[in-house]
Amino acid sequence: MTFFIAFTLGLLLSIVLLWFDFRKEQAGVKERLEKITAMMSHTAGHALVTGNRSLAQGITDGLVEVGIVKKVSLVNDKNEILAISEARSTEAGYPIRFLEDMYTGQTSFRFPLIYGKNWHYAGYAEIYPNIRSISEDFAAHAGTVIISTFIVTAVLSLLYAVSFHLTLVRQIQKIAEKLAGADPSNQSIYSINISERHAKDELGVLTESLNILFARYHDNLLKVSRTEELKAAKEAADAANRAKSEFLANISHEIRTPMNIILGFAEILGRDIREPEHASLLSSIRDSGETLMKLINDLLDLSKIESGKIDINPTPLNIGSVVDETVKIFSETAGQKGLKLILNTGGCSGQILFDGIRLRQILFNLVGNAVKFTESGFIRLSCREEKTGDRLCSVIITVEDSGMGIDESQLETIFENFAQQQGQDHARYGGTGLGLAITKKLTEAMNGTIAVSSTKGSGSLFTVKFRDVRICDAPLQKTAAKGTVTFEPALILVADDSPQNRFLIRLMLKDHPFTFIEAENGRDAYVKAAAHLPDAVLLDMKMPGTDGYAAAKLFKSDQTTAHIPLIAVSADVLSDRVEEAFASGCSAYVKKPIISSELTDALKVFLKHSEENRAEEEAPQPSANITEEQRKIIRSELYDRWQMISRRFVISDMENFAALALSLAERENIKELKNWAEKLAKDAKEFDIDSLTGTIDNFTGFI
Ligand code: ADP
Repeated sequence: MTFFIAFTLGLLLSIVLLWFDFRKEQAGVKERLEKITAMMSHTAGHALVTGNRSLAQGITDGLVEVGIVKKVSLVNDKNEILAISEARSTEAGYPIRFLEDMYTGQTSFRFPLIYGKNWHYAGYAEIYPNIRSISEDFAAHAGTVIISTFIVTAVLSLLYAVSFHLTLVRQIQKIAEKLAGADPSNQSIYSINISERHAKDELGVLTESLNILFARYHDNLLKVSRTEELKAAKEAADAANRAKSEFLANISHEIRTPMNIILGFAEILGRDIREPEHASLLSSIRDSGETLMKLINDLLDLSKIESGKIDINPTPLNIGSVVDETVKIFSETAGQKGLKLILNTGGCSGQILFDGIRLRQILFNLVGNAVKFTESGFIRLSCREEKTGDRLCSVIITVEDSGMGIDESQLETIFENFAQQQGQDHARYGGTGLGLAITKKLTEAMNGTIAVSSTKGSGSLFTVKFRDVRICDAPLQKTAAKGTVTFEPALILVADDSPQNRFLIRLMLKDHPFTFIEAENGRDAYVKAAAHLPDAVLLDMKMPGTDGYAAAKLFKSDQTTAHIPLIAVSADVLSDRVEEAFASGCSAYVKKPIISSELTDALKVFLKHSEENRAEEEAPQPSANITEEQRKIIRSELYDRWQMISRRFVISDMENFAALALSLAERENIKELKNWAEKLAKDAKEFDIDSLTGTIDNFTGFI
């Protein structure tokens, strides 16, 4: 096709050029005839002037021999034709005839003939031009041009085709092959190379565009597959997180249940053991149990925070006093290490709405670490409030120490779960690496941030900042005073699949005028409750067959049992399980391991009772009910230790002391001391520093 186009174009061009040449030749006919006439002008003039017809005839005969003269006549000044000649002509073929017909010049030319020295007009020659030879020349040329154009075009086309194949076709084939072999999962094929030669021509532009197209296509594919991967990964992570929370809840239940039995029996044994050595062994059992419970609680805390189930309960609070208490608690340990504890709470004088329990947890972790990782120098704890708006402020707390510091490369990682500094002496420092992770997550859950700056060997500075904290004028909450409870006789149904647990609950409540019925699963509990109509049911939530949740629904769906108060007893402390218990129909929740004061607190809500106000117990006055003999025993067995714990203010010491006091109270049957020891244990367990300070001081009433 290209060949024909090229050939036709070449041919047309040549013929046009030839045609112009031909027309030029035609236009030059008159000039040539003029020259010929001029050459024979003298002889022809002489023939005309002298009337020499034969000379004239000779001239005209000679002229028609010249190719371009068809017919010629010589006419004298009297208009007499002296001679006339005409060339012999043959019939021309079509193209020549056509060309002759194309001649647009005059049919004849008259050239005047001048003769003699005086330029005498002798007459004229009338010549009819013959353009056949020009036409024949043109025709002959045209033939040659057509043939040579054909040959040249053919050769050029062939050369062009070969080079086209070698360059363009080959490149296009390469692109096509790439396209055919395209595999979306393989990124490398998404780029086609183009040789230098074509980099800037249309092929280069085409290749470049294809590469851009591929890159976008590939990006899109990646985006789609990444989105899908991320979606799948998120679903997997969510599922894993749910599984982890479930696992933690289950495992904590599994651990808490035997721990409940161990700690509960230890508590009960403590009431009867009199031998100090045995009491101390028992105290070790309780200590280790409590440590284990702390670890479980940490893990549970972490899991609760991670699954967003942490409850933040802001109450009116003075941050300065919480910071103060924290310093007080650590002052003894810091003092023993020779550390200077510097406190600066001047910037925190007002009241704000804040979760004090969580703040204590954060401060305990940070100050505890500062004390643990500092061998000499100081620990500085300061807080300040910066007003940021109408009744809003930021709270900034810093804990600085001059201890071993943290390597720069690990400043970020120490906030991760189970992370400790690399190469840290575990035997010396212990720990689980969960404290800072919990602290960070708690801080963030309270709209705060935590940052650390440190120089290895020179100490660390932890800065905690809470934003948009509400300033309030509400009065600080006072811990409600509690008295000694005296229940009226009541029937209590204890539903638990573990006989030891049922036994433990009965033992804990043995001082009250209760009668018990026992059930070992939910259905059994419901059937027995319908038959005996107890005043309250202590319902274990995790039982084989009909569990506590299902049993609660059974109770509530039956008019006979619907009014009976259900107290859920469970080691499951994840908030959604607690909510589920309430949703199923339970009216109170007591967590395992059961603390007897919590159990009686829950029963107090539903059972008739009277409560002796403990105002006198809170005053450091000797209780009238305690005999002088009992005071003596208390002084000799507890006083020294009390002095030490009130100076040191270490939570675990207080828990141990509470256990010791409880066992003495049981042994000597001193009810006030028993209540006091239970309260001390509860305050210590809940980190209730406000109450703890008062409770510790109240001990003076026993000595
Ligand atoms: P744990 O104290 O149980 O190891 P944490 O999460 O509280 O766990 O702390 C993690 C690690 O961060 C610590 O083991 C210690 O390496 C480092 N760290 C924390 N606080 C300090 C500090 N004040 N000085 C030096 N190192 C610290």
